[in-house]
Amino acid sequence: MNQAFDLEQLLTDPVVAALARAEETAWFAAAPTDTAAGIEASGIDPAIVDDARVRFGRFAPWFAEHFPDTRATHGILESPLVGIPDMQAELGARFGADLPGKLWLKRDDALPVSGSIKARGGIHEVLEVAERIAIAAGLMAGTDDARVLERPEVREVLSRHGIAVGSTGNLGLSIGIVASELGFNTTVHMSMDARAWKKELLRSRGVTVVEHAGNFSDAVAAGRRTAEEDPSVWFVDDEASLSLFAGYSVAGARLAGQLASLGVTVDERHPLIVHLPCGVGGGPGGVTFGLKAAFGDAVHCVFAEPTHAPCMSLGVRTGLHDSISVADIGLDGLTAADGLAVGRPSRLVGEHLQQLIDGYVTVTDERMKAFVGLLHDTEGIDVEPSAAAGFAGPWRILEDETYRAAFGLDDAALANATHVVWSTGGSMVPSAEMTGYVAEGQALINEVSWR
Ligand SMILES: *Cc1c(COP(=O)(O)O)cnc(C)c1O
Repeated sequence: MNQAFDLEQLLTDPVVAALARAEETAWFAAAPTDTAAGIEASGIDPAIVDDARVRFGRFAPWFAEHFPDTRATHGILESPLVGIPDMQAELGARFGADLPGKLWLKRDDALPVSGSIKARGGIHEVLEVAERIAIAAGLMAGTDDARVLERPEVREVLSRHGIAVGSTGNLGLSIGIVASELGFNTTVHMSMDARAWKKELLRSRGVTVVEHAGNFSDAVAAGRRTAEEDPSVWFVDDEASLSLFAGYSVAGARLAGQLASLGVTVDERHPLIVHLPCGVGGGPGGVTFGLKAAFGDAVHCVFAEPTHAPCMSLGVRTGLHDSISVADIGLDGLTAADGLAVGRPSRLVGEHLQQLIDGYVTVTDERMKAFVGLLHDTEGIDVEPSAAAGFAGPWRILEDETYRAAFGLDDAALANATHVVWSTGGSMVPSAEMTGYVAEGQALINEVSWR
């Protein structure tokens, strides 16, 4: 293959060399970018956040009727923010350094409808497409309550349209569940290694599941091709969709409300530090955008990836973004972390959002699993391995004097810090499978090195 870069040259960067050896890494931006300048540089209009928030509001009555697990929030898809003091103390003991400030868990593993962060982005895009079709057919006004989509003539129109997506699992679940409920003809392209229970669940809801030999990128490419051949099919593009991104971004404004209701102060001297598992980057990127819009320079966002699939770390560090894949540095892209097994980052996020992202941390599968075991033992909370990727971040920040000095994170600021680990998935995992994750994690607690 004719590569647009010189691998040997890239490997002279010790961070890239460590990524290529599948070692754990942590690196941070050299200096802060003013948030307003960063948002400007992203080229993304902050108005998309509110537009998506309002759209979710229009659909709330529809969700409350169709998905019983959203009744308790009157149809709004949101997750709890919980303190995890016992996990904080246990990790402090393991890592050999107590974490100043407070550690919280944002429980997107418990998001209604599809049990992962994908319920924010994936669902938003389906809603937007449904509205667009109904409006174009003259059957809906842009301000209507989404229950008009239940009228038989609207369902008939939607059934003549297709929605397609390529997914390792969780995105397919979110899109498949909601698109089929709206009456769309829905196809999810999955890689062969996607979990069987996800395929079965989708098929039980009338979704067509197409399995592809090869990896996630191949499944996405296949989905894109079939949609290109048929103009009635809308392809949800995980690698570049602004609608997905907008759906994720709503979380920022909502988290601001949750912290305010808990009386948690966030400002320059009381930093909010958010640790986000990263696959293709749309989820953590969108959440970062929403958080920056809500909190400005007071929020710090750190992305966490598996050592075998660090596509965002690699893309941003080399400046090559989606022109380089983890395979180009000899990595196999294999990880137990569903949703994070991605070889090439989103075009939208790495390149356009890098000024808003503070740092990039990679963790081994063994460490992610050990975190799953510890979270179960200390807090009685069960999440999937991907969802635990963020737990190393707070300690990596403690160790990095250069980053702390550049970003004003002195001892006093860290003593007032609010660390939020974003837990991105888990509640839909069948209990037998979850029991397996926990047991495997518990066995690894004393195996991994805690440094
Ligand atoms: C998709 C996913 C992520 C990351 O989102 P990206 O948009 O792919 O970066 C994290 N955790 C879980 C469980 C996911 O399914």
